[in-house]
Amino acid sequence: MKDKQGKAVCGLCGLAMVDFTDCPAGRTVVFPDGSELPVIPWDGTVPCPDCAVVPGGYHHQHCDRGVCPKCGGQLMICLAIGCQEE
Ligand SMILES: [Zn+2]
Ligand SMILES: [Zn+2]
Ligand SMILES: [Zn+2]
Repeated sequence: MKDKQGKAVCGLCGLAMVDFTDCPAGRTVVFPDGSELPVIPWDGTVPCPDCAVVPGGYHHQHCDRGVCPKCGGQLMICLAIGCQEE
């Protein structure tokens, strides 16, 4: 998803994923089995290299660095095909 300037935009909150914000819509995540858990904030000390959230912020949708609160795996993969490490 892209905005008018061609920036990548989050499908959850509509903010550009390059502006060093965090995701106001990304506090919880809903899994394919219907369970809902709180999202793990970005634990880096620099803005996320993938979606540019600030340290301690919540990743935007489809960020590669998002961590699954259920199994600790890559959240994007768990949301697509379910957790593989339970
Ligand atoms: Zn991120
Ligand atoms: Zn977002
Ligand atoms: Zn998982």
